[in-house]
Amino acid sequence: MNFRIGYGYDVHALGEGLRLVIGGVEIPHTKGCIAHSDGDVAIHALCDALLGAAALGDIGLHFPDTSDDYAGIDSKILLARVAMLLHEKGYGIGNVDCTISMQRPKLRPHIDAMREVLARTMGIEVDCVSVKATTTERLGFEGREEGVSASAVALIYKM
Ligand code: MG
Repeated sequence: MNFRIGYGYDVHALGEGLRLVIGGVEIPHTKGCIAHSDGDVAIHALCDALLGAAALGDIGLHFPDTSDDYAGIDSKILLARVAMLLHEKGYGIGNVDCTISMQRPKLRPHIDAMREVLARTMGIEVDCVSVKATTTERLGFEGREEGVSASAVALIYKM
């Protein structure tokens, strides 16, 4: 089988009083991501991993943040479009693995909901979707609660 892997990384700054949406799930918190879209840092990293695996550019190429079409958009729509694009190019998604780096709040209670939403959005089984959360031990922008970062890897295969 023809396997390919891709890697993605994204960062968003946090601002007071905004919605916090990560991995397609709204998380109760006092801060949310400052972004042109809904600022879903995990989905953005995942989209870049999938696009990277297929050498199809990046999320900014396909969904430019200068376009009003994507203002405030639900990032699940972007992920579904990326999955469809890969499908059109003859690729299936094998599995994905994402790590979110954030000091607060604790993401553990939301991880399984994220996995289910992401799996459904990509049209793959939930056991093919891993989401992990970590802190940076109060170091760096994540640790100071100024922002959140996410990295992701994806394996795809030629169907
Ligand atoms: Mg982003």
